[in-house]
Amino acid sequence: MSIVSNSLKRIKPSPTMAVTSKAREMRAAGKDVIGLGAGEPDFDTPDNIKEAAIEAIKLGDTKYTAVDGTPKLKKAIQSKFKRENNLSYEIDQISVGTGGKQVLYNAFMATINKGDEVLIPAPYWVSYPDIILLAGGKPKIVKCSEKNNFKLTPNELKKAISKKTKWIILNSPSNPTGSAYTKKEIIALSKILLKYKKTFILSDDIYEHITYDNFKFYTIAQVEKLKSRTLTMNGVSKSYSMTGWRIGYAAGPKEIIKAMAKIQSQSTSNPTSISQAAAVEALNGTQDFIKIRSDSFKARRDFVVQSLNNIKGLSCSKPEGAFYVFPNCKKLLGNKTKLKSDKDFVERLLEKGEVAVVQGSAFGLNGYFRVSYATSMENLKKAMERIKIFCESLS
Ligand SMILES: *Cc1c(COP(=O)(O)O)cnc(C)c1O
Repeated sequence: MSIVSNSLKRIKPSPTMAVTSKAREMRAAGKDVIGLGAGEPDFDTPDNIKEAAIEAIKLGDTKYTAVDGTPKLKKAIQSKFKRENNLSYEIDQISVGTGGKQVLYNAFMATINKGDEVLIPAPYWVSYPDIILLAGGKPKIVKCSEKNNFKLTPNELKKAISKKTKWIILNSPSNPTGSAYTKKEIIALSKILLKYKKTFILSDDIYEHITYDNFKFYTIAQVEKLKSRTLTMNGVSKSYSMTGWRIGYAAGPKEIIKAMAKIQSQSTSNPTSISQAAAVEALNGTQDFIKIRSDSFKARRDFVVQSLNNIKGLSCSKPEGAFYVFPNCKKLLGNKTKLKSDKDFVERLLEKGEVAVVQGSAFGLNGYFRVSYATSMENLKKAMERIKIFCESLS
């Protein structure tokens, strides 16, 4: 009998671990590996935000706070939703946690009974299925196709949803594809969701501010009739380059928000008081650098998409946001190259080309890989050259 619990046994070890640890080994051995696996912006946290944290320490803002967020931060979040999304929430409809990840964990732990079904469009962020499994739920994966830019279509939704669907997760712009739903696409999905009155919607908006070409961000809680069963998750990690500060938040139905606080009160209690003060400044202070950074990300996206499409055997669509692309490598798999899967491709690319990316199957879709362009243009140029040489060597 193992000491490890049965619920933990349902969780797979992180599929990205193999590549990450191999890359680390190679670096330790003196190899110049370029990492395109990062799930965080390479920019530093803006100075005004850092100073707000220093000020908080000096003022003695260093004690326990209310479990699911200080009144000040909740107010800043309330204004953010009003200002940016035209959504009105009461203060008790808002919850703050230690990163978006804890917020998701709280939400599913607080609402899922054994066997409850959760619809997850693939490719998906790696943590969704495992959080659902830990909570005792049943992830129901819906594979989305490249020809629809990896977005869930109304037809696919219609086929997959049922009376048993407790939640559906939407993530736009998406990790790992960068694809984002337009208002029109969200309205089309909402027409089906309106018929399933017991299904709740989790909208993961963490990449809201990283979009290009004047893309107009729209979130499903803006569909009035769905707002009462939508939990919108967001956070400061990606928009404000604050991954290490660990602040995420959600807004939605009071009953869920209250249940989430209950879980948090018996696990971590409040997120760090200092990080909360910094997050207040992030949300209320100047937003100027968001545009500057997005422009820089856009230049990299354009370069990476163009470079990948110039490599024989690869093809890559141009996504609307986030800092990832999800190129297709199916033409390089098979007998001729002796690569059986995207995992083989990624492992060999690391070994021979010394570039670290993540296989698409880690995100629930085979035949692709994820490239994160949250790194310098110089690194990207070197990496694209190496990927080209590697792919050419295969044929
Ligand atoms: C990074 C990320 C999150 C949450 O990140 P936190 O640092 O925990 O706030 C949530 N969803 C997606 C899709 C992400 O990429």
